[in-house]
Amino acid sequence: AANERESLYLVSEFANSYFQNILHKTDQGKSIGLSYFKERGFTDETIKKFDLGYSLNEWQAFTDAALKKAYKLEFLEKTGLTIVKEEKRFDRFKGRVMFPIKSMSGRVLGFGGRILINDKKAAKYLNSPESEIYHKSKVLYGIYNAKQSIAKEDNCYLVEGYTDVIQFHQTGIKNVVSSSGTALTSEQIRLINRLTKNITVLFDGDAAGMRASLRGIDLILEQGMNVKVCSFPEGEDPDSFAKQNTLEELTLYLEENAKDFIQFKASVLYEDSKSDPIKKAETIRDIVNSISKIPDTIKKEVYIQECARIMDISEEVLFTTLAQISKKEA
Ligand code: ATP
Ligand code: MN
Ligand code: MN
Ligand code: MN
Repeated sequence: AANERESLYLVSEFANSYFQNILHKTDQGKSIGLSYFKERGFTDETIKKFDLGYSLNEWQAFTDAALKKAYKLEFLEKTGLTIVKEEKRFDRFKGRVMFPIKSMSGRVLGFGGRILINDKKAAKYLNSPESEIYHKSKVLYGIYNAKQSIAKEDNCYLVEGYTDVIQFHQTGIKNVVSSSGTALTSEQIRLINRLTKNITVLFDGDAAGMRASLRGIDLILEQGMNVKVCSFPEGEDPDSFAKQNTLEELTLYLEENAKDFIQFKASVLYEDSKSDPIKKAETIRDIVNSISKIPDTIKKEVYIQECARIMDISEEVLFTTLAQISKKEA
């Protein structure tokens, strides 16, 4: 119900100011949380702009504080901020640095929390569970801070993680959002589509991750948007790369390395498969399948010509494959 949603918003809003307060005003917050962010190179201005916070390393410090302010346990549990188990209450984000996730209009919907020391036993990032206000397939981290720049630049950078968004902002590139580790959805793309028809997908510098992400990009083509992709040097991600470079260097890197998605996919797949005829056949179907998602007929034709050249195969074969795929879809 609308009333219940409002209660969940209010609890989340309280948690957002609480975690920031802990970060800036308590000894533990300053010595652990704030130093962590400083070590990552975030300035005070950046930390404030993204409402970054810290959740005390205690079992129920947040829950107690919220109950004391008369927020109901029911709503603390429904937002996932508190975990209730056999009459006991636990703070979900105990001992983590906090990244609030906001809607397009700036309301806090949920949180991501990162552990401070990488430890194989605990998940590096923990997110709020699905709730009446937080649907992870419908939100993009950073959209509230990025929306004006996305419209103004008429382009949106899509990165993998929270810290990539934040470090880009600090470096001076503000048209950037993240799907925060989950596979990209059509609903997320629609949020961007309202602001621009151009997306540049930035991959962390690991080949496996890049290849795994290629498929999800077809969803962007389906919405008639223009897609470029850009990867970073092995072992780097947009955060670590931006941290080591000036705005001028970063801008130049993006300009020089962003490639048209279809051309990029065709060359990567071709390189992977050119010595194996069976694999090459699969690859050709894969790339033509991507092309079939593009609504514009003229663009389709241009891409067929391009791919024929890149993959060293006749245009006729590609057009026939396209016709077969389109027939199956219909
Ligand atoms: P950091 O620089 O803090 O290590 P990152 O953003 O570079 O973080 P990646 O490993 O590249 O981390 O993962 C990208 C995104 O995927 C993260 O920002 C986070 O949203 C999500 N993610 C990563 N690990 C987990 C996990 N164990 N559980 C849930 N989500 C995760
Ligand atoms: Mn990654
Ligand atoms: Mn990363
Ligand atoms: Mn990183």
